[in-house]
Amino acid sequence: MSDASELPERKEEEEVSPEPEEQSDDSSEEEEAAGDTEMDFLRNLFSSTLGLGSADKVLDDLTLDGVARYINSGKCKNIICMVGAGISTSAGIPDFRSPGTGLYANLQKYNLPYPEAIFQIDYFKKHPEPFFALAKELYPGQFKPTICHYFMKMLKDKGILKRCYTQNIDTLERVAGLEGEDLIEAHGTFYTSHCVSFCCRKEYNLDWMKEKIFSDDIPKCDKCSSLVKPDIVFFGENLPVRFFTSMKMDFPRCDLLIVMGTSLQVQPFASLVSRVSKSCPRLLINMERAGQADPLLGLLGFGGGMDFDSDKAYRDVAQISTCDDGCLALADLLGWKAELEELVKQEHTRIDSQDKKERSCEKKEAAAKASSASVAPEPKEEE
Ligand SMILES: [Zn+2]
Repeated sequence: MSDASELPERKEEEEVSPEPEEQSDDSSEEEEAAGDTEMDFLRNLFSSTLGLGSADKVLDDLTLDGVARYINSGKCKNIICMVGAGISTSAGIPDFRSPGTGLYANLQKYNLPYPEAIFQIDYFKKHPEPFFALAKELYPGQFKPTICHYFMKMLKDKGILKRCYTQNIDTLERVAGLEGEDLIEAHGTFYTSHCVSFCCRKEYNLDWMKEKIFSDDIPKCDKCSSLVKPDIVFFGENLPVRFFTSMKMDFPRCDLLIVMGTSLQVQPFASLVSRVSKSCPRLLINMERAGQADPLLGLLGFGGGMDFDSDKAYRDVAQISTCDDGCLALADLLGWKAELEELVKQEHTRIDSQDKKERSCEKKEAAAKASSASVAPEPKEEE
């Protein structure tokens, strides 16, 4: 599925999800992560109210130029990207949340008790049909990664991408060439699927799932006949354990945080911006400002939010544009623009020709079937 965009309004569930749930074998990890969050919170509280902690000014200017100069200085070795639905909209993947064009507006035909049920794990286990019908409609694959996706691939190729934390489930980061290791798919992915039986958990790949979805089969496990579900995070499910373990390792080591195409409203993803060190510059590329601390909470000393233009601003930069335009502008300042455009062109051509090949294979297969079927019943012409 593609629409892959961010799974919508999981707010309530996610606020609880870092807490361990019963039956989770990873509960100690998550407990630790939750404890860490508390520690961070206390640390932030003390540092902002008592002026503890260092907050060096790393950027010589709070602009895209300043960020580019920092990247080119060679001091910026670990970049973390945090991305959301906004980086995939130019690929034609609609944002779940946009009213009217969003996903929920189109769900009536599935006769759901309420729209969110389609992503609720308990409902899914009893009634998987609506989810798979929707998955077929929104299947990833007919979409191509965007300039922004390839910009992240360039960061990887240049050896300065620490990790990409994505809220999207469209797998476009992988299509663009990021590998499992480079990625934290915070809301899961369509790339792999698992048997839902707790005792079995057999893994299935994307091709297997695609075949089931397109033949209108409800995917069942070969081994135990339980349902098989793509590894996207449903309501009522925990975020992947790797999300919690990696964020503890990655964020303190981050030299530059680039936040793209997300309004930073879904927790716990949104709170990641406050996990980098106090001197780590943060660049937001988005159609609107996001991630700013609630002014009231700010007064109380609960800091950590973005600060682009107060007189205390020292490290946050907002580039208000589409993600593609923002990445192109940054690439231009870095002297990488031609390279980025060439990469996009090459990759899109490759994907198009691959698509064509697949389609012609399918056509040939269908034609072969049709002709072999028509051989027998055809009346003899010569007598
Ligand atoms: Zn199974």
